[in-house]
Amino acid sequence: MKEKDPLIFKASEIRESRGLELSLDPPLPFYADAFETPGTLKSLHVRLSFSVGGDSLLLSGKADIELNLECARCGAPVTRAFSDTFDEAYPDSVEYVDTRELIRETVALLAPLKVLCSGTCKGRCPMCGIDRNTSSCSCSMGKASPFGALKGLLEKPDDKGRKQ
Ligand SMILES: [Zn+2]
Ligand SMILES: [Zn+2]
Repeated sequence: MKEKDPLIFKASEIRESRGLELSLDPPLPFYADAFETPGTLKSLHVRLSFSVGGDSLLLSGKADIELNLECARCGAPVTRAFSDTFDEAYPDSVEYVDTRELIRETVALLAPLKVLCSGTCKGRCPMCGIDRNTSSCSCSMGKASPFGALKGLLEKPDDKGRKQ
């Protein structure tokens, strides 16, 4: 039944015990597809604290996650930890408090748009794809000089022609 999921709680039980505090590592599959790339979510730890308000149950919680990401410049795997807090109020009329969507939304928003393996990552060579952090190539030299010279040659006569 519903209440068997570790993140679904029976409202009456929380009220009877005048609140509830718990800390758990929910099963990942439900949260994993909050991310575009499968396998992004490496770990999830959740802390929940329920208190009984006047006519509602109040929840404040914290999610700690680890994500498997890729460096935006060189593509190297990067594992980073993120955390965020969340709050919610549930009216007394609810029979079950289902925190899964709330946690899922919180977790999904933690994914950064862009991550770098290090602030000094040199990325990959756009010509040959070599990882410039670990190796070097001569593409940039070969690319810069003839192209620059050719550009200069083409622009000069063109500018003259337009002025005259
Ligand atoms: Zn990198
Ligand atoms: Zn190269």
